[in-house]
Formats: sequence, C-alpha cells, structure tokens
Amino acid sequence: MKRVVILMGPPGAGKGTQAELLAYKFGLIHFDTGRYIEGLHREKLVPLKIRKEFERGDLADPVWTLKVLRKQIERIASADFGVALSGSPRTVFEAFGDSQNIGVMAVLTRAYGKQNISVFELDIPQEATILRNSKRRVCSVCWKTHLLGPALRNCPFCGGKLIRRVQDRPSIIKHRLEEYKERTKPVLKKMKAAGFKVVKINGRSKPVAVFTKINGYLK
Ligand SMILES: [Zn+2]
Repeated sequence: MKRVVILMGPPGAGKGTQAELLAYKFGLIHFDTGRYIEGLHREKLVPLKIRKEFERGDLADPVWTLKVLRKQIERIASADFGVALSGSPRTVFEAFGDSQNIGVMAVLTRAYGKQNISVFELDIPQEATILRNSKRRVCSVCWKTHLLGPALRNCPFCGGKLIRRVQDRPSIIKHRLEEYKERTKPVLKKMKAAGFKVVKINGRSKPVAVFTKINGYLK
C-alpha cells in the first residue's frame, strides 16, 4: 500500500529524522521541502526576492513554494512511491490552496486517497526548540544534519565540514518559531476539520521512542 506520512512541528522538533526513519521502514520517498529549497538556493536557482526572504527566516513566497512542492509530489506519485513529507505544508495556503491554486492536500488525496494520509504533529516546548536549533549543524558535503556534541567535529557520515545554516541562527530561529505559531499551527486545525487523521506526539523523547509511537499508529 502506498501511503503518505506528513510530519509537522516547530523547527527542531525532529520532523526530518522521523521522516527519514519512516521512509526506510515503509519504502517511501522522503521529501523535505526546506532541504530541497536550500539546494535550489545553493545552486542559485531562485529569484532574488525569494532569496532575501529565505535569509531573513521568512517563509518563502507561497505561490512559488506551492508550485515547487506540487511538482515534486506529482513526480514521486507518478513514479509509484509513497511519500514522507517533513516541513510541509507550512501554511493554510500551501495545504489547501485557493481559487487559483490547487493545494498540496488535494494533490495528495487525488494521488493516494485520503485514508492513506497520516499527519503527525511533533510537539516540543519552545526552549527545547531553541536549544536543539542552536546545536544544529549541517554537513557541507552530504547535507545531513547533526546536533553538536563535544566529540563531534566533522560529519560522522562522510567526514565533511559541519556548518551552521543561516536560518539556524538564534535570532532567526525565534522568528521561525513565530512563523510556525502564526502560520503553520492553523494548518493542523484545518486538516482535522477537513477529516484528515492528525495525531499529536510528544517530540521530546529520543528519536527512537518517537518513532516507536508513530509506528503504533501506522499498523
Ligand atoms: Zn556528511
């Protein structure tokens, strides 16, 4: 069965980690919108206006983001794979669109069926978000993320140099948290109202414990 798992939660909640684990377990393609868009930025494939928003920590232009997201989901679905989404949809517009734009939830429903879509909200307190993000580094070679520890100097996967992303700077994280509260939280409410399965999970535990909990809902 092809399924869709959507991981929601504030920055640092562990969405990417869970999506990755679920992708391995269920043979899904993990699509991380943030990471994909960062890649477009690195390759200088985005308009200047969008680049500026990105560096401020604002959510990128909604129409542009939705278009990027829809295209990738359609590619994955047409290749006959299920999908694990982390970091999307981030706004009500991305999720449900408007009269001019088809939202992501409609695209997913058409491709996979509503009953095969599960949404998990990883809930962590704000202090934990700030702490985790301040320790977060990405590898400049393989772009895996790691939490800084005393023994961690280079990427444990490939040995590449670890760097801090612009959007993980403390001042920008605060801004991203506000964006989450104001613009992403309402998405969860609307998903529930629209009849999607939305489960809140305590994201404070170790990734393996969170993963076990999520699995319990996916049997
Ligand atoms: Zn690496």
